[in-house]
Amino acid sequence: MSNENFQTRASNYLNKLCCEISERCVGSEGNRIATTFFEKEISSFGWQTELQPFNAIDWEDGGATLKAGDTCFSVYPGPYSLGCDLSSELSAASTVQELEKLDAKGKIVLLYGDITKEQLMPKNFVFYNPDEHKKIVTLLENSGAKAFIAATGRNSALAGGVYPFPLIEDGDFDIPSVYMKDIEGQKLLPFVGKVVALKSLSRRIPGNGFNVVARKGEDPSSKVVITAHIDAKKGTPGAIDNATGVTILLLVAEMLKAYKGERQVEIVALNGEDYFAVPGQMKYIAENHGTFEHILLDINIDGAGYFEGDTAYSFYGLPHEISTKAETVLNNFPGICKGIQWPQGDHSIFVQYGRPAIALTSKWFTDNMECQDVTHTEKDNLNIVDVRKVVTAAEAISKLVTEI
Ligand SMILES: [Zn+2]
Repeated sequence: MSNENFQTRASNYLNKLCCEISERCVGSEGNRIATTFFEKEISSFGWQTELQPFNAIDWEDGGATLKAGDTCFSVYPGPYSLGCDLSSELSAASTVQELEKLDAKGKIVLLYGDITKEQLMPKNFVFYNPDEHKKIVTLLENSGAKAFIAATGRNSALAGGVYPFPLIEDGDFDIPSVYMKDIEGQKLLPFVGKVVALKSLSRRIPGNGFNVVARKGEDPSSKVVITAHIDAKKGTPGAIDNATGVTILLLVAEMLKAYKGERQVEIVALNGEDYFAVPGQMKYIAENHGTFEHILLDINIDGAGYFEGDTAYSFYGLPHEISTKAETVLNNFPGICKGIQWPQGDHSIFVQYGRPAIALTSKWFTDNMECQDVTHTEKDNLNIVDVRKVVTAAEAISKLVTEI
């Protein structure tokens, strides 16, 4: 098939994932439609497939209101938070020390300033969880507070480009929470000691989801795994994050449809990179328990195909022969260059298990990690995708897989 035909193919996949399917967040119906579509499509190229199921809640925003005296404040339910309908005294804390001393029992607590500078990692997120975050979460859970209001600014590294960002995004955290802009928090502070009314219609919905694993080649003892997460953040089309990655997986599957090698190639649509409990990733780890050393190499795609700048690759623990080979292959493709290492992707899972990994993304995102306002917002739509880069990335990966 020609490059132009693959471009058409890529456009169709992207349209399906970002437009026809309205959302792909884990636990939602759209997410299940996306994995079903992926499974059907990749099987049609002769790949053996396996579905790896897990339970995962979905979430309905429902909106929230906060009234203090005669003033109404704009607040948003924390994603995956429980709802509430409360009238209680307001108290506040801006540091861990203040939170430790706070008498929060039965109160609504405003968190602002230093303590809300970055998004708290979810309780059960095992891959990266600083002690400082764990300490704050434990203090919040043991505080006796009825609900939390977090006043936040920007935190691109952990929360993407959203302002304000939710301090708590965790379906395992059972005290209701809402969030508001830092400047609104300053206006709310004078109401400390007074009764405020907080209502949130946030709701958890039981659901499930799947990883899709597709294989070719009989010998799994030194397999090449190609991964991309298929889920998207709630409320975003998730074009660059990560419909392009999923599209690249499908294009690679088609480019390698005649693959006859002994070495097993495994293509995995992981499900949960942008979800608090990363259930698909945890499931994949459980399924590969004791056999991770069979993975010769992971190639993970996340954030590729941005219309501006090059596609960037980065290497993690690659043996010398593979890194030399990979560099030669990848550098041969126009618009693909060596980029910086970055930890916020599923390649980190393989790295943590001591397996070599290559990450593929758009250089623009790693260059602008701290200041971009695209990731996890509505701006992450098809207008910022260049399908030619998507096809080139797929060609490069296919070439790499057959050359290693
Ligand atoms: Zn992503």
